[in-house]
Amino acid sequence: MHSGKVDLHMHTVYSDGFLTPKELVEKAHSRGLTCISITDHDTVDAIDEVKSYADKYGIDVIPGVEISTNVDGVEIHILGYFINHYDSELLKYLKFFREERYFRAKRIIDKLIKLGFDISITDVENEAQNSAIGRPHIASALLKLGYTKNFYEAFNKLIGDFGPAYEQKIHVSAKSAFKILNDAGGLTFIAHPGNLKESILKKLIEWGIDGIEVTHPSHDRYKVKFYRGITQQYCLLESGGSDFHGGAKDDYHNIGKYFISTSKVEAMRKMISKNTA
Ligand code: AMP
Ligand code: ZN
Ligand code: FE
Ligand code: FE
Repeated sequence: MHSGKVDLHMHTVYSDGFLTPKELVEKAHSRGLTCISITDHDTVDAIDEVKSYADKYGIDVIPGVEISTNVDGVEIHILGYFINHYDSELLKYLKFFREERYFRAKRIIDKLIKLGFDISITDVENEAQNSAIGRPHIASALLKLGYTKNFYEAFNKLIGDFGPAYEQKIHVSAKSAFKILNDAGGLTFIAHPGNLKESILKKLIEWGIDGIEVTHPSHDRYKVKFYRGITQQYCLLESGGSDFHGGAKDDYHNIGKYFISTSKVEAMRKMISKNTA
């Protein structure tokens, strides 16, 4: 493995990102990244395409995915790395999660219609195409229909976690997500823990989380220090990345800015070989 910058958290058009695999790899290369992981929500469809472009630049691609889970009623995102993205059980679960995303989008649209918006699920499907539907697609549809001035306004006024058109997805428990990801040969990480309650953090550690996403745009240096301390205290792995989505999300400044070193990836590889020994 070569030295360089590593970004283990990125989204493509296969979930709610705005860049195609080709565009994303070109952007990653231009920002000096030498190892990336695509962590689309509930889909691994981008990975092979990303690999085919990344090979050209000598960029390593670690198969990844981001799964939304539920712990004590709190939505916790779990990142899986080094998964076998052809594993049929994994693919079966991801398909199920994507179906739930579709039904939840319909519930959000119903709420928006009741609030007086002239929007249909087709508007959202046009944004999502065949990818895993997320709230960003709804935000894009609202923006296109002229109901909002920018991408973020939809979240702030309507579909954010406390907004009038918000609907929860049904999520698996984190413990089940660990099993699904571990069975597919992957390691599990808590994504962007932010202000995670200590009781939840303790549970995730007890249930066998492999690591924590320490570097993330939503973490200030105190949080980085805090979560790095937790990884050291509990012998956990450390990951990090930009959580880049692109497009209307306008987070281009984050690519190449939020990264980890290759030594962190080497530690993950060591853990994988220990697990399979
Ligand atoms: P979903 O998985 O459908 O609940 O959508 C979650 C995604 O929406 C996250 O991964 C973010 O990309 C985006 N998101 C959530 N909250 C906000 C927000 N307040 N502003 C902008 N994007 C957001
Ligand atoms: Zn997302
Ligand atoms: Fe997330
Ligand atoms: Fe993400």
